[in-house]
Amino acid sequence: MRCVFCRIAAREVPAEVVYEDDRVIAFLDINPLNPGHTLVVPKVHVERLSDLPAELCGPLLGAASRLARAAREALGAAGVNLVVNDGRAAGQAVPHLHLHLVPRFPGDGGRSLHSLLPVRHGLDLPEIARKLRDGISPR
Ligand code: 5GP
Ligand code: ZN
Repeated sequence: MRCVFCRIAAREVPAEVVYEDDRVIAFLDINPLNPGHTLVVPKVHVERLSDLPAELCGPLLGAASRLARAAREALGAAGVNLVVNDGRAAGQAVPHLHLHLVPRFPGDGGRSLHSLLPVRHGLDLPEIARKLRDGISPR
């Protein structure tokens, strides 16, 4: 059976859809962290960001950008967090790539990305950068 986000994209499972085009669908998270917490989802089933065809990265981020503006202008959000839990180790529960858009409001009690983990002092940044430069795949 197809995954729940594929089924939402196929309109087999109900959701509060806020945006749709031929490649992307966005709908409210069923367990919202704040009003307007939205999942921006490619219609194609891919699990990881690195599985997403390059030509779909722009449409996905473009939809997120427009929805971020709508969160500010239509919901009065003061800011927005855009988060991908990419992989189970990062907290991904639904194995279909999705970008969380969480509108932020003054006094909502939330913090930033930097509340996820403590700062790691003493890492060998040049060595880590070298590995990443060597490891990044060509376009
Ligand atoms: P993850 O941890 O995979 O990044 O987050 C998955 C998100 O999907 C969760 O925030 C969860 O509330 C949301 N979610 C899971 N199942 C459904 C569903 O059937 N409908 C909607 N609208 N959201 C869902
Ligand atoms: Zn899927």
